Amino acid sequence: MSVPPTSRNGGSPAPSARNDALLSINDLHVHFKVYGGILKVLDGVHFAMSPGERVGLVGETGCGKTTTMKSILRILPMPPARIAGGEIMFKGRDVLKMKQRELRKVRSEGISMIFQDPTAALNPVFTVGQQLEAVVKYSIEGKDLSKKEIRERTLQPLREVALPDPERMLGTYPVQLSGGMRQRVCIAMALAASRELLIADEPGTSLDVTIQDQILRLLRELVEEKDVSVILITHTLGVVRETTDRVYVMYAGRMVEVADTPALFDNPLHPYTHGLMEAVPKLTGGGVADGIAGRIPDYMHPPKGCRFHPRCPRAMKVCKQEKPTFYRVDDNHQVACFLYRDSEK
Ligand code: SF4
Repeated sequence: MSVPPTSRNGGSPAPSARNDALLSINDLHVHFKVYGGILKVLDGVHFAMSPGERVGLVGETGCGKTTTMKSILRILPMPPARIAGGEIMFKGRDVLKMKQRELRKVRSEGISMIFQDPTAALNPVFTVGQQLEAVVKYSIEGKDLSKKEIRERTLQPLREVALPDPERMLGTYPVQLSGGMRQRVCIAMALAASRELLIADEPGTSLDVTIQDQILRLLRELVEEKDVSVILITHTLGVVRETTDRVYVMYAGRMVEVADTPALFDNPLHPYTHGLMEAVPKLTGGGVADGIAGRIPDYMHPPKGCRFHPRCPRAMKVCKQEKPTFYRVDDNHQVACFLYRDSEK
């Protein structure tokens, strides 16, 4: 799958130019009003994916991945958040302009999200069955289904995520389940609601590595089986390599590199992507390399020009003054870095 065409005006891919896009985000800016000022968290995010694609989104904690995804579903708390500009097109309609009724349809039939922490995602005072049934009823609003059909639709996702004894599971409370089982319930709820696009935000991160591995494997199988489009947010580059078709790398509120997955791993271009890859511990010795010195910038006073320049070992004068444009170095590879100005095809 080739990456979106390059825009010359804002320095990023122009996903809105894709006629076949399932989802495209164009120049999205999100600010948070906090005590003492405004945090300019998203700084012109561009993103696009086609139906059936599995796209990875990687970057350090705090670089805006979850904010971007929550913006898609319009579940950011407003205030303090504010959409300061841009559009989010889902199947040709701007989510940011939708009325509640249309938005509800997107949430019930179009897009669902699995959150990082299953304990926080489930309500402790309702049983699994009550919570799943609420999701099913939300998704079938307006359709005339019998109680038996609703119950079957509630049980089916529990069977799909391989939870033992789904009938009994309906009557249990989240606190009675292990972390892995809660994560499976969250996946079941996401699958019960919609089938077109699943956003998985670091699923299993809060669990131990063996359970996390089981959860990711389960997710992969279900995605294959149901042919759902997926955005997978993760810190684990190995998971991205195994699971996705294409990868976006995000830094400090902007996408900085996008490529087909093999191209990104074979030939990472952006200095930040290099740093992420070098930060992976090696089993063959050497431990963790230096990785990336410094930290994500203060969003109240972000650096001018390339937001990565204070940490970049290859920063030049221009990097401190101008925002880099996305340069297409190959059909399947674009990077927002001045180092590639002369490599554009
Ligand atoms: Fe480094 Fe400059 Fe490239 Fe930014 S644009 S990543 S500062 S070389």
